[in-house]
Amino acid sequence: MTPGDTRPAAPPDAAGVEEAVVADLARLLARMPDPAGSVHGAALERELAATTGVRHAVAVSSGTAALHTALRALHIGPGDEVLVSALSVIMSVAPIVHAGARPVFVDCDPTGTDLDYNDLARKVTPSAKALLPVYLWGRPGDPARLARMAMDHGLAVVEDACQAQGSRVGGRLAGTIGDVGCFSLKDGKVLSSGEGGYLLTDRDDIAQRARSFRSHQQPSPPENGRPAEVGYNYRLAEPLALIARANLARFHTLAARRRHQSCLLAELLTSTPGIDVTDVPARRGWNGYNFLATVALDEPRAFCEHLARRGVPNSVGTFGLIPADQRPALAPFTTAPCPHAAAVVDRTLAVVLTDHDDEQRLAGYAQTISREARQWRP
Ligand SMILES: *Cc1c(COP(=O)(O)O)cnc(C)c1O
Repeated sequence: MTPGDTRPAAPPDAAGVEEAVVADLARLLARMPDPAGSVHGAALERELAATTGVRHAVAVSSGTAALHTALRALHIGPGDEVLVSALSVIMSVAPIVHAGARPVFVDCDPTGTDLDYNDLARKVTPSAKALLPVYLWGRPGDPARLARMAMDHGLAVVEDACQAQGSRVGGRLAGTIGDVGCFSLKDGKVLSSGEGGYLLTDRDDIAQRARSFRSHQQPSPPENGRPAEVGYNYRLAEPLALIARANLARFHTLAARRRHQSCLLAELLTSTPGIDVTDVPARRGWNGYNFLATVALDEPRAFCEHLARRGVPNSVGTFGLIPADQRPALAPFTTAPCPHAAAVVDRTLAVVLTDHDDEQRLAGYAQTISREARQWRP
């Protein structure tokens, strides 16, 4: 994708979609609990599998639940280690801790677009069972390297593709590269239903165990000699499945709009001193989840915080993003530092985008970023 070759995406026909959803919701609520079971949940799973070309989609209650379910479906638990990107969010790591396993933080490359495979190789131990790459800001790394590394070390791959819906790399859709891909349907993601999540897998055994785990092991999974265990209530509510289906039907419009928003901001900020958007054109299959720029100003973190106070929401300024290995709650698991991840987080301006951001709002963001960058004195 280049800023030049994006057609202005038409805004999604929100009003028309909302009217239809409200009518469908009224019908649904009138017959809940539906004796037919989870009609919209099952339909959503079929539609997700069909549109992604994967054998199974399993709908759950959140992206966090999708990750926890994926890890448990792979029998990952106490005594096991999971190698996870340090360049990630707390929700990427919490499910590893919930599963009773130990997160091992892996640094990213200096650009933040892929894992640092040398760091990964140094940190693999015989207890390592899975690799959990996190496609922060919607950018998947090289799928061939990921597959090779997993193969060489006998690791399962669970992708955190929560921000990467629709991103493609090397012809592959993010979240369909490893054993399981995990997604969130929380508002703000490209495909959303307010809250919710799903996982994608080609493996029948994982899908079967995931379906059991999300609903207190009912139906019970094939145990194959393993002791029976308890599950969770991670079901996706029917009204949310209905909303997710309506948005899935216009996914191409939603994704094109997000890409257009990111590229428009890149165009508007192309020659702003201290705001480097030059690597945007390189990211062909990227979904444009956030507008991304490298801040080449003194004290870039303070600059991002300053922008948030001036009304430009962004990962560092609004959410206080720090690498996972620096989070106090994860301190018991921290071993070697991940310096690239720290530098990338500190230097990246990742502007939060939503469907409701029209060109006028984006022009306002660009104006604020450009003005504040020119005036910046930390
Ligand atoms: C949103 C998100 C999650 C968690 O999803 P929830 O639905 O909020 O539980 C996990 N990882 C990443 C990268 C996310 O963006």
